[in-house]
Amino acid sequence: MTSPTRVLVLNSGSSSLKYQLLDMRDSSRLAAGLVERIGERTSRLKHTCLTSGETREQNGPMHDHEAALKAVAAELSRDGVGLDSPELAAIGHRVVHGGEFFTEPTVVDDTVLLEIERLIPVAPLHNPANLTGIRTAQALRPDLPQVAVFDTAFHTTMPESAARYAIDPRIADRHRIRRYGFHGTSHAYVSRETARLLGKDPSEVNVIVLHLGNGASASAVEGGRCVDTSMGLTPLEGLVMGTRSGDLDPAVIFHLERVGGMSMDEIDTLLNKRSGLYGLCGDNDMREIRRRVEEGDEQARLAFDIYIHRLKKYIGAYYAVLGRVDAVTFTAGVGENAAAVREAAVAGLEGLGLAVDAGLNAVRGDEARLISPASARVAVAVVPTDEELEIATQTYALVGRE
Ligand code: AMP
Repeated sequence: MTSPTRVLVLNSGSSSLKYQLLDMRDSSRLAAGLVERIGERTSRLKHTCLTSGETREQNGPMHDHEAALKAVAAELSRDGVGLDSPELAAIGHRVVHGGEFFTEPTVVDDTVLLEIERLIPVAPLHNPANLTGIRTAQALRPDLPQVAVFDTAFHTTMPESAARYAIDPRIADRHRIRRYGFHGTSHAYVSRETARLLGKDPSEVNVIVLHLGNGASASAVEGGRCVDTSMGLTPLEGLVMGTRSGDLDPAVIFHLERVGGMSMDEIDTLLNKRSGLYGLCGDNDMREIRRRVEEGDEQARLAFDIYIHRLKKYIGAYYAVLGRVDAVTFTAGVGENAAAVREAAVAGLEGLGLAVDAGLNAVRGDEARLISPASARVAVAVVPTDEELEIATQTYALVGRE
């Protein structure tokens, strides 16, 4: 019998379930979809069979993740690629927080589940949902390896000098306070693809990766290993994001509580959900912000400028951290699509060897590409991220060798 080659990738949120089914013989996608509003009366499943191109939608209540996954399984069966197929090698799960413990993708057993659970205090929104996804998939296919792929794993190579905050280490260790970083699967994939684009081995290149989506993070990758990243204990630190403030003086929080009379929960909501681009100008979609900037909207212009200023600071900081930079790579929704952001982020950095060719920058596409002039000392690249493919690749590498 030939070995199974399919991997189902699951990304469970608190009320959502995203999935893709891939065949790892050629990394092709067989199906993909999303269940939204799990637990509400208006749950919706959107499923696409990628071999036929057919899209189907199911509306109606799905009470929990088990109901959602069963509905997904039924859709996959309709396409002839059901979860009961012997061709399914494993299920790969995105797990947001793996702490310091999980440095690599890991086959899930009871100890692994316990450790993911122990990390809930540092990832209260994400890890419970990820655990639910794993347990649900286990119940459906108890015989199948379930692999956890951690968002934090790629960043566990950061030196202590980058990973520690300047606070009493005894207090930090007691409460597991350190800089973990997130979007690691994307930073790993994109830095490796950047090396490929340059025709080099990842061990030979230093890359600054700018993952600019609704959440946004930068990383400094030295010879394939992450040495610094902008998100910290939680995904709140670092760049200006869609709705998160990113870096700010921690005393702002004391001030809001003592002088502003806000509760900790209100401040948490303010900084995570009502700040960033949205807080600054009422929009978190870069397309809308650019449209308003073009129309001369001052509030949108200021939001854009603050976003770019922070981005530039991180490029400069990681340039200094790395010493030598071979490429700066833009990825995710904004990084892949917003030419104006790429142009503004690099403008004025010619002294660092960075420049963007206006013609190349304007070209749209979903291929990895260089946008710097041929003469530039440092390559500037756009590399579409593919976290599902990376999770599937890491999962298959772990279980697919037989
Ligand atoms: P992500 O979190 O990677 O899915 O990125 C989502 C964000 O990408 C959206 O909130 C938009 O701000 C941004 N985005 C998507 N398409 C475009 C585009 N064509 N131009 C500018 N920004 C875009």
